[in-house]
Amino acid sequence: MTPAPGPVTVPAAVERLVRSLPPEKLPAYVYDLAALRDHAARIRTALGPRTELYYAAKANPETDVLRALSPYVDGYEVSSGGELAHVADAVPGRPLAFGGPGKTPEETSAALRTGVARFHVESARDLRQLARLARENGAGTGGRPPVGVLLRVNLPVPGGLPAGSALTMGGSPSPFGVDPADAEDLLRELTGDGRPVLRWYGVHAHLASGLTAPQHLALARSVVTWSAALAARHGLPLPEVNVGGGMTVDYTRPADRFDWAALGAGLDRLADEHPGTVLRIEPGRALTAYCGWYATEVLDVKRSHGENFAVLRGGTHHLRTPATKGHDQPCAVLPVRDRPDERPGDLVGALAETAGTVTLTGQLCTPKDVLARGVTAPGLRPGDRVAFALAGAYAWNISHHDFLMHPRPGFHFLGASPGGGPGRP
Ligand SMILES: *Cc1c(COP(=O)(O)O)cnc(C)c1O
Repeated sequence: MTPAPGPVTVPAAVERLVRSLPPEKLPAYVYDLAALRDHAARIRTALGPRTELYYAAKANPETDVLRALSPYVDGYEVSSGGELAHVADAVPGRPLAFGGPGKTPEETSAALRTGVARFHVESARDLRQLARLARENGAGTGGRPPVGVLLRVNLPVPGGLPAGSALTMGGSPSPFGVDPADAEDLLRELTGDGRPVLRWYGVHAHLASGLTAPQHLALARSVVTWSAALAARHGLPLPEVNVGGGMTVDYTRPADRFDWAALGAGLDRLADEHPGTVLRIEPGRALTAYCGWYATEVLDVKRSHGENFAVLRGGTHHLRTPATKGHDQPCAVLPVRDRPDERPGDLVGALAETAGTVTLTGQLCTPKDVLARGVTAPGLRPGDRVAFALAGAYAWNISHHDFLMHPRPGFHFLGASPGGGPGRP
């Protein structure tokens, strides 16, 4: 069993808003953009000048989130035509990397028209489709530059990743990237053309998630070493290596942060060993998880076969993360003590002060709709507020919103511009 999450501190501005919203305006997603800017600035500072930071938009593509990150990131990684169009619109002119398996001709053409900085090529077919469409698009002729390509390679994950701590997708059969052995022929094909429409910049690898800084560094080192050898075998320079995202977010320790300083220092050493190569990382979760809150109220409190349950307005159709990750979402209970309109009968359903822990569920008619177990909340009663932390990544946008047709949550963006108030009403 995983341990119950540690304590959660709700920022004052978030708590004020959550307490001020009337019940019918709950649940609500609250994004603390000031906290996001702080966090991103710290990450940027921890990374050396030869490490580029791209944000993987799939973690949270909210327009205000993309814009808040803009001063601190070198670009954005998108993995579909939808993300491509959305991100290009939200942060016009910022560099984009377009990856993902199964790119359609329409998506690839749209990406060429948008002028993405890098294509992450995932297969032989992906490469040939890109070359054909790039040629039709006039790339590499008439003063137009060739299209920039990184070859995504499914490299083995070095030993020493403790089992269970990281979700590994490299080094084993998968739809992502090409096998190391096949990279040789594809690289020849990519660079052998006399009138190149594509230009090879290096290797892309995103091999695992849930990685600590030492694990990410070990992975980065093996990817860069392999890529340098590949380039050397083909007599080519190696301008870039993208070593992926997957930096861990520890949902049991909501106050902890990934050790960006250790990663930055380690990547600096690695870059020093490979002069002429720029390193790039593309985290999603560890950038935006901490800035998001899913806030709601208690609708009902009950005992069932000896255990306490609180049913909340909303549920995993808005915040699917605890269901997909199999964890308890860290949360803070915000008791509402001052209730001028309350009559004695309203107290029915209050949890006894000594009642132990409670399971927080949503309104869905499925036993899987559990947001958190083992929450200590003596005296919890209907009307009390609950704020779930770490809901800024893979939260709203991975959830099955329409299941059971409950209303959608509200969205609030605090501190949308430096020193400013809420971003949109
Ligand atoms: C999902 C994804 C990422 C981001 O992963 P996180 O675990 O959110 O950091 C980066 N690169 C690729 C190719 C991805 O698919």
